[in-house]
Amino acid sequence: MAKADYYELLGVSKGDEASTIKKAYRKLAIKFHPDKNPDDATAEEKFKEIGEAYEVLSNEDKRAAYDRYGHAAFEGGMGGGGGGGGGFHDASDIFSQVFGGAFGGGGGGGGFDDFFGGGGRGRGRRGGASAKRPGSDLRYDLEISLEEAARGVEKELEIEKEAACGTCEGKGSKGSAGAKTCTTCRGQGAVTRQAGIFVQQTTCPECKGAGEVIADPCADCNGNGTTAETTRIKIRIPAGVDSGTRLRSSGNGDAGFRNGPSGDLYVFINVKDHEVFERESENLYCEVPMPFGIAALGGEMKVPTLEGKSSIKIPAGTQGGTVFRLRGKGIKDLSSGYKGDLHVEVKVEVPTKLNSEQKEKLAAFTESIGQKNSPLQESFLDKAKKFFDF
Ligand SMILES: [Zn+2]
Ligand SMILES: [Zn+2]
Repeated sequence: MAKADYYELLGVSKGDEASTIKKAYRKLAIKFHPDKNPDDATAEEKFKEIGEAYEVLSNEDKRAAYDRYGHAAFEGGMGGGGGGGGGFHDASDIFSQVFGGAFGGGGGGGGFDDFFGGGGRGRGRRGGASAKRPGSDLRYDLEISLEEAARGVEKELEIEKEAACGTCEGKGSKGSAGAKTCTTCRGQGAVTRQAGIFVQQTTCPECKGAGEVIADPCADCNGNGTTAETTRIKIRIPAGVDSGTRLRSSGNGDAGFRNGPSGDLYVFINVKDHEVFERESENLYCEVPMPFGIAALGGEMKVPTLEGKSSIKIPAGTQGGTVFRLRGKGIKDLSSGYKGDLHVEVKVEVPTKLNSEQKEKLAAFTESIGQKNSPLQESFLDKAKKFFDF
């Protein structure tokens, strides 16, 4: 597939200044950010493309190479064991470099900062060339009942995660000497090699990209500053979540490498099927059997709701399949707070164990009513006339 022109992708011209290019990238990056376009593969692809374009055009050397050789300037260096030679960064990294921490909200304790309708993906985060590296985001799949989804619930999750090492307090070094700047890469974490017009960058072999070398690594965490632990985290699930809702708990992911920022914990909700109710977004549906005497004569009938018992008035002559709506007895919408309805469909129940006296009475009743006073049957017979010979 032919690659689009980087200038065209960002909607800028070849002669434009760096600040113009940055502005153009900012605008597009916000528009196509995956958090704003969950489950939109086209937007995600676009987000990657503009990230790649900006990575090249924002770098003087790369831009010069691109102006001269086009996309060919960056081919050949791609792939190759993930060493990073000439390859592109993750689009989220580019985004974070431009926006810093300004996008997506800061860390708050305990609660969730954010929720999303569906799948989507996490945002990237990187602190630049430093020994501190952010911890990974974690995923937890949580199954809850419909009642819990409707009311909201507090849950305690048991999570296996990397936590800051208690022995060295996350520093990674045993003594007070701490970490020293790596002399091989001068703290950059990467070394560059010039090969013709190509500048190749690879992870520093000495410090493995950390930028620092620890002289006396902590024995408990091997100098990483984190150890695997089982932690219990209390989280509050808001009322209205549904299967597919993804909640983010800021800072509850893996602890970062040598006191780097923690990742986030993403809780993916799955709501179990209910015995009585079916849910469709904020509305609930259920079927309730209706004795045929009540169907004919009318009366009051008890119906279940998620908040307990309620009742509906059945008018005389109610047909099976009639749906009664109980306003506000559905589920609260997660973002608007609007409460849906409960739709109750009544099913006429025919008695199955009649004694002889009841049978006689029913036979007499059937005789007396004949085929009159049965609106559905009348209209059916009307339509069926041309097929039957009465
Ligand atoms: Zn340690
Ligand atoms: Zn190094």
